[in-house]
Amino acid sequence: MADAFDHASELEMGDRERALNTHLNRIKEAPVDYGYCNDCGANIPAQRLALLPDAVCCVTCQEIRELREVQRGLGSRQR
Ligand SMILES: [Zn+2]
Repeated sequence: MADAFDHASELEMGDRERALNTHLNRIKEAPVDYGYCNDCGANIPAQRLALLPDAVCCVTCQEIRELREVQRGLGSRQR
């Protein structure tokens, strides 16, 4: 019983991660408005665009994205 439940919640987690990854990848591949953050709409500084021409979000949102990545990494390591 307990094993079946664990397995089910694990599958659900995988689906959520996959959906989130797909969402992030789609945002990354298709900038809505060049020079503007896809996540919050803020103007991306020209200096940042010069360093990262394919940047689609501002520094703050990039940090949030990286924090999410770290949290996902820790989650899978605990398993
Ligand atoms: Zn932003």
